[in-house]
Amino acid sequence: MTKLYVIAGHGGGDTGACGNGYQEHERVVALAQEIVARGGGEVDHWPYDQDCYGSGGMDWINPGCPVLELHMDSASPGARGGHVIIPSNCGGADGYDNAIADLMREVFPGRSNLIVERGDLRNPNVARQRGINYRLVENGFISDAGDVATFNANIGYLADRYLAIFGIGSGGGSAPAPAPTPAPAPTPSGSIDDLAQRVINGEFGNGDARKAALGDKYDAVQARVNEMLGVGGGSHAPSPTPATDIDDLARRVINGEFGNGDARKAALGSKYDAVQARVNEMLGCGGGGGSTSVDIDTLAWKVINGDYGNGQARRDALGDLYDRVQARVNELL
Ligand SMILES: [Zn+2]
Repeated sequence: MTKLYVIAGHGGGDTGACGNGYQEHERVVALAQEIVARGGGEVDHWPYDQDCYGSGGMDWINPGCPVLELHMDSASPGARGGHVIIPSNCGGADGYDNAIADLMREVFPGRSNLIVERGDLRNPNVARQRGINYRLVENGFISDAGDVATFNANIGYLADRYLAIFGIGSGGGSAPAPAPTPAPAPTPSGSIDDLAQRVINGEFGNGDARKAALGDKYDAVQARVNEMLGVGGGSHAPSPTPATDIDDLARRVINGEFGNGDARKAALGSKYDAVQARVNEMLGCGGGGGSTSVDIDTLAWKVINGDYGNGQARRDALGDLYDRVQARVNELL
């Protein structure tokens, strides 16, 4: 029996928000897949490669069970935290919503309002009209390196907790991985070369996690990692063909090889800016870049913060920019 229907937000060519080398849609698909895999036959899901919002899927799906739509938030760096969006006029938060709010407080702290009623979003509105038990969860900010690291380190934990909230499986799971500073492990044994290869394979995570895992071997191993990856200069500095090199490094960044944030900066050394710019290009993030897109983003965030009210008041306040700002609001959410 299906007890939970999962929608991974965006898709169908809409990547959602981008940040820290990740795309929102790709990340929430990863979480949805984990929920579906761990939930067995009790979880159904919207097709991962299609946009439920854009294709009007909420008009016709018949989940026959509660619906969980997964997103990640986006804003200027500094904003962080998860929250739950529920349709207004649906009787308020239910037990599922309250439990998810607790989960967001635990894993993605940072928001004071953990449950927000919205009357201006299509999927929540249609769900309410059709009597579907529905909530949209912003699983932290993809624009915040800490939230992204926490998300990546806790996909399994979040999946278990979501399943438990909807009465699936044994539930609970163990405590969340305390990313981005996980519990220290004993310093691993092995040669520096061996450890460096394991770092490159992702075994020790990134940033502080990698430092903690490698203990007093960190500096030596990290130096060897940089050598092996041909970054950071030195006698092993590679690559007579810079363009290809940047493309190649960018692809490896996207594959997660260099981690995030400071770890990525350290691994890429002087090539960081060029590679990161190429990553953003490849991910379709931040393109165009003119002041216009920034203005639209700023206005969209003001809308989300409630500065322009709803309905006609918002239309009046935004004038000609209404359609573009509203489209961006929907993207960000
Ligand atoms: Zn979204």
